[in-house]
Amino acid sequence: TDQTFDVVIVGSGGAGFSAAIEAAEAGKKVAIVEKMPAVGGNTLLSGGEMNAPGNWVQKNLGIKGDSVETYYEDTMKGGDNVGDPKMVRIMAENALDSAEWLRDEIKVEFLDDQLFQFGGHSYKRALIPVGHTGAEPVSKLKAKADELKIPIFLNMKANELIQDDKGKVTGIKAQDKDDTQITFHATDAVILTTGGFGSNIDMRKKYNSEYDERYLSTDSEGTTGDGIVMAQEVGAALTNMESIQTYPIANPKTGMISLLADTRFDGAILVNQEGNRFVEELERRDVISKAILAQTGKYCYQIWNDDIDAISKTKEAHGAEYDELIKEELLVKADTIEEAAAFFDIDVDTLKETIKKVNEYAKSGDDKDFHHRAGLVSLENGPYYIEKATPSVHHTMGGLVINEKTEVLDEKGNPIPGLYAAGELTGVIQGTNRLGGNAITDIITFGRIAGKTAGGL
Ligand code: ADP
Repeated sequence: TDQTFDVVIVGSGGAGFSAAIEAAEAGKKVAIVEKMPAVGGNTLLSGGEMNAPGNWVQKNLGIKGDSVETYYEDTMKGGDNVGDPKMVRIMAENALDSAEWLRDEIKVEFLDDQLFQFGGHSYKRALIPVGHTGAEPVSKLKAKADELKIPIFLNMKANELIQDDKGKVTGIKAQDKDDTQITFHATDAVILTTGGFGSNIDMRKKYNSEYDERYLSTDSEGTTGDGIVMAQEVGAALTNMESIQTYPIANPKTGMISLLADTRFDGAILVNQEGNRFVEELERRDVISKAILAQTGKYCYQIWNDDIDAISKTKEAHGAEYDELIKEELLVKADTIEEAAAFFDIDVDTLKETIKKVNEYAKSGDDKDFHHRAGLVSLENGPYYIEKATPSVHHTMGGLVINEKTEVLDEKGNPIPGLYAAGELTGVIQGTNRLGGNAITDIITFGRIAGKTAGGL
C-alpha cells in the first residue's frame, strides 16, 4: 500500500515534531514515520533543558550580561571550533525565538525561577521544563501535532530513500511491524530527523574504535544512525563522525543518564575511590569523562547535601531514579561523611580532608585546586548523598552536512533535491563536543527551519 503526502518526516523526536508542525502550519499535508512503538526518541529521555541567551528567567533571576555572542562563542569553543560558524550563529541567534515558540505556541511550561549552567557555559542560561525531563516538550509537541491532525505512523521503520530519474528524493520505503512494505511518496520533501547513532555499537566502532562495547549508552534503542546511512546511500556527505560524546555521570549498571546528579550544576563535587577531587565539576563532558576513566576502577562518586538539593530540587524531580539507585546500591544517603565513606569503602580521612577544603573554598570563593567556575558550595551540613557513576555514550556530534536551509549536501557541497535533515543526525553544529542544553536548542531551531523550508516559506 502506498501513501502520498507533501512532506514526509522520518523520526518523532524534537526535531521531527518541530519540522512537522511548521510544515503543517505552512499548509502542507504532512506525515511522521516513527519506527518505535512510541514517539519521543532521545528527546524524551533527555533532561529537556534548553539554552537561550537573554531569556525571561535570566531576567526574573537578575542575571545580566548574557548575549547571543557569548553563547555563540561558548558553543564554538566547547566544540573546539569544529562546528560550522555560520550554522552555530543561526542556532545562537534563534535560540530565544525557539524557546519562546515552545513556550507560546506549543505551551511548554518552563520553571520561572530556576536555570542550569551546564559545563562550558559562561552563564546560567538553560531553561528547565517542568518535571526536569523531555516528557514536557515531547508531550506538548505531540499534542500540537494531534491538534493539526498530523498522522503519526508508529512501528514504521524507514529503510530507504527513493529518488526520481533526476535524483530528487521523492519518498521513502518503509516497513511496519509485520514486515509489510509501505511506500510513502513525498511530493515536496523528505525530512530526516532520525537522531544519532549512540545505540549502534558497530557504527560507533566503524567511526571511532574507542567507543566499543565497553561503553554503555544513555540513548534510546532507536538511536541507530538509520537516517545517516539512508542519506549516505543517495550521495550525502558525512562529517565529524568520529566525535562521540560520553555523558560523565551515568548509571554504571545500565548506562542510563543520571538526572538526579544534576546537583553537579549547583555545587555537588566529584571524588575518586581514594576520596580526592580530580577535575573541575563544571568542565566539559569530554574532559570530565576522560578524567573519570583515568581514576581507579573507571568510576567516580558524586557528593552533595540537602543545601545543594534545595537549589537543584532534583530529588523531588527524579524520585523514581532516586529510589532505583538506592535499590541498586549505587546511591546512599548518610548523616555523616564517615557513614557515606564506609558505604562505598572510600578512604575516610582523605574524604574528610577533601570536604574540609571544599568548605574553605566555598567561603573564600576561591577553589584553589580546580577553579570551580561557579564557586563551590559548602558541604558542612549533612545529610549527604553519594552516588557512584561512570561515563556512558550520550550524543553523536557527527552526521549529515546541511546548509542554512537544512538542505542535505552531497560530497561536492550541492543540495540533494527534496532531502532535508535536522537534529542529532546532522554533523555541522556541535563540533567535537556538544555542550549541555544545546541539543534542544539545535533540534527545535533547525527542525523548525526544515519544516518552514519544506513548507515553501
Ligand atoms: P532528535 O533529538 O534529533 O530529534 P531523537 O533521538 O529525539 O532525535 O528522535 C529520533 C527519532 O527517530 C526516534 O524516535 C527514533 O526512534 C526515530 N527513528 C530512528 N530511525 C528511524 C527509522 N529508520 N524510521 C523511523 N523512525 C526512526
